[in-house]
Amino acid sequence: MANPVDSARASIRPLFRAPEPETLAPLVAAAQLQAEERQGVIHQARGLLGELRAAQTDGWVNQFLQEYRLGTEEGTALLSLAEAFLRVPDADTADLLIADKLGDANWRSHKGQSASLLVNSATWGLVLGKAMVGDESRGVLRKLVSRAGEPFVRQAVGAAMRLMGQVFVMGRTIDEAIKRMDASENKGFTASFDMLGEAARTRADAERYFEAYQGAIAAVGANPARGHSVSVKLSALHPRYETAKAATCVPELSAMLVDLARQAASLNVQLTVDAEEAARLEMSLDIIEAAARDPRLNGWDGLGMAVQAYSKRARPVLAWADALGSDTGRIMQVRLVKGAYWDSEIKWAQERGLSDYPLFTRKPSTDVSYLACAKDMLRAAHIRPAFATHNALTVATIVEWAGHTRDFEFQRLHGMGQGLFEKLVQAEGYHCRIYAPVGGHRDLLAYLVRRLLENGANSSFVHQLADEEVSEEELLADPVDKVMEAGGTRHPSIRLPSDLFMPERRNSEGLDLEDAAVLTDVARAVSLKSVGSAGIDVDVSTAITTAQSAYAEWSAIPVDTRAACLNRLADLLEAHRPQLMAIAVQEAKKTIPDALSEVREAVDFCRYYAARAREDLLPVELPGPTGERNVLRHEGRGVWAAIAPWNFPLAIFLGQVAAALVTGNTVVAKPAPQTPEIARYAVALAYEAGIHKGALQLVTGGG
Ligand code: FAD
Repeated sequence: MANPVDSARASIRPLFRAPEPETLAPLVAAAQLQAEERQGVIHQARGLLGELRAAQTDGWVNQFLQEYRLGTEEGTALLSLAEAFLRVPDADTADLLIADKLGDANWRSHKGQSASLLVNSATWGLVLGKAMVGDESRGVLRKLVSRAGEPFVRQAVGAAMRLMGQVFVMGRTIDEAIKRMDASENKGFTASFDMLGEAARTRADAERYFEAYQGAIAAVGANPARGHSVSVKLSALHPRYETAKAATCVPELSAMLVDLARQAASLNVQLTVDAEEAARLEMSLDIIEAAARDPRLNGWDGLGMAVQAYSKRARPVLAWADALGSDTGRIMQVRLVKGAYWDSEIKWAQERGLSDYPLFTRKPSTDVSYLACAKDMLRAAHIRPAFATHNALTVATIVEWAGHTRDFEFQRLHGMGQGLFEKLVQAEGYHCRIYAPVGGHRDLLAYLVRRLLENGANSSFVHQLADEEVSEEELLADPVDKVMEAGGTRHPSIRLPSDLFMPERRNSEGLDLEDAAVLTDVARAVSLKSVGSAGIDVDVSTAITTAQSAYAEWSAIPVDTRAACLNRLADLLEAHRPQLMAIAVQEAKKTIPDALSEVREAVDFCRYYAARAREDLLPVELPGPTGERNVLRHEGRGVWAAIAPWNFPLAIFLGQVAAALVTGNTVVAKPAPQTPEIARYAVALAYEAGIHKGALQLVTGGG
């Protein structure tokens, strides 16, 4: 009989990019509230809203983000500035960045709009900043205020970014952060310290972060009675934490996690593994399982992991964690979050042309998933739940379902959700932990941007709470009703990656190289020998003469027919993707991801030029002022020479060929001397797609 951990694990993968409605159906059933439960939830939530509103009157960051919503040009400008500013190493580039980002937006319209003095002051700074970097009075103001040395705007922008950072960061060092947890504002709360830094690029970075985690565990362990814990990001510990390197990074990361966990266990400190990008989930489970099964950690209940409810795989991951706890005789500490990488995950799936998204596309669907997961966690025998959220409705539902039990905890981020948990902690015996990032501004950026996105998104609860246009009824509407109203379907504005450019054209199909099984298949396919059609190339003078004589016939073919040939060629390129990738790898020495991009770009070129030609080359009726008929027609120019470089041997080779052919020209195409095979293969497919042999002539050879 299969081990329960393995069977739970096997049910995770099929949901990775499963269709949204079928994934949601069981979650909706689990998250549904009885009528009297709903009453209790609404009552509780209204109370929490009151507390939240009272506590947030001076939350200047919230008000700042309310004034500069992400939907406005100014909000987007600020976010891009925040994303890059603190890592610009030199003053001149920083000035250029400020000029670029602040230059065009309309800051004046925000003057005096906010109730917060700080927000209004910041707005004045931005108006002034624009005046200084824009064309309005370039030079004069700059001279005036740069007397202090460093230009005022750069200083002001730097200070604003650091100030914003401080709102979300507990301290620059672990000692400073631990001390701050003793301040009266944090009374009754415990903390989970996160050493800022993620996505290490070098071994040296990874070692530095590893030592920072060791330092944090030691500092927290010096006073275990305080109940603080440490959170760790696996991406900070390895520069190549990626599927293609799983054979080395998984064992190395497992060893590092075990080391940290042993240190934590010896000091009675809990250690939680944060949840990161969807592509890394399966690797993270391998690493967590390795730690859970390490005999030196037997009997330790401090191992924790975060689970993202926006993921279609969240529920089976929880079942797996429960099974792992049972199998290794421990309680797993599980933090349920909604997930912080939503925007990026959506973009990555689109950019990579993948079959579907790994997460839900409507906000209420994530809320429903969260509730269904929360219910599972409250019932699980080997999970101690931690519910991380700033959403009063979500908190109220959990309070309702949990009843009298207090054997779980809430969690919030430092700088967010003030007021939400104070009464629950101080008067009602609930536990709440604050996720407390620690570090200098150098390591702050990725974290800060996620917080700004989270606070600034109009779908987010904290943002809606501060928005006077959102009614309390709307704020507390049942997410289950919303999901059922939409039939659990994908958000209409978030098309499947394949439909991104419809109705103009289909997106080129990608391959999920982050899926270990897909990667193994692709690696095997590209190692097979694949060659283009021998004898397809001719000598130069024959090629030119043939292309010249083919011109009359080819250019007379209707645009629509020529465009249809390109679309057929695109389909053929996709059908022959393994062979083309194999040649790109073997002949052009491309890596697998680059070989895939090469084929996808060639496919996109064909479909793009076909679509544009159909649109742009139609005859245009022009005005006939004296009664005559004037028609604008576009015609080919004759024979084109298309010479491709070696570094994009298929995409650039075919891109220029496709453009020339569809506009009615004939082509003599010459690949780089290093990459004739892939050109031969592509030209053979072009003939198969219906492009006349005379219209496309291949010549190969030297420079
Ligand atoms: P809400 O406003 O109710 O929910 C916002 C969330 O809904 C978004 O963040 C997103 O997840 C989701 N969402 C928004 N729009 C859509 C949409 N169109 N379709 C589907 N879903 C949508 N995040 C991690 O990824 N990994 C971690 O390890 C992690 N650790 C955390 C630890 C703590 C203590 C806390 C409080 C948060 C942590 N987070 C982590 C961040 C967390 O994911 C966000 O704070 C959380 O999503 C905000 O949810 P909410 O219930 O507070 O707000």
